[in-house]
Amino acid sequence: MIHHQCLTLNKLANNQNSMDDYILNEHNKEEFPPAHTAEHLLNQTMIRIFGCERSYNAHIERKKSKMSFRLDSKPSRQEEREIERRMNELIEEDLPVTFEFVTLDTLPPEVSPDRLPPDASDTIRLVRIGDYDVCPCIGRHVRSTAQIGRFEMLGTNWDEHEHSFRVRFKIV
Ligand SMILES: [Zn+2]
Repeated sequence: MIHHQCLTLNKLANNQNSMDDYILNEHNKEEFPPAHTAEHLLNQTMIRIFGCERSYNAHIERKKSKMSFRLDSKPSRQEEREIERRMNELIEEDLPVTFEFVTLDTLPPEVSPDRLPPDASDTIRLVRIGDYDVCPCIGRHVRSTAQIGRFEMLGTNWDEHEHSFRVRFKIV
């Protein structure tokens, strides 16, 4: 059922050629909307817990996803459990996912113009998750966070040399 719905969404996305006028970020349109929406939530959750930037590398797929962040130090077990707890709390809150179009000179302060490609068009699509997160994105999302399901952390990896923290997760 979910599989069918996702195929339909992808088909719609591919047919919406007029949307190409608004494309800013490179984006994989084949990604699974619940996992992709969790990607937005995890970015903001990491920012709030660790004061870091959004992930510098992400592979989001239906079965397993991974995202990497640059952190000052290795998170504790307790902090790792807190990531998972907050993610599921946000899902249970069923925050609405909405979008709007803004121009470059009306970007909200939370959105850094540095993150946009140099050839970005003047019109930018912002995706908001409740009052929790806002970021420019052209991907496909669920309508509210309860549709994500449940966030399960599969494991983490810490690279001391790179100060890179990788979170592996799946949506069930
Ligand atoms: Zn998105």
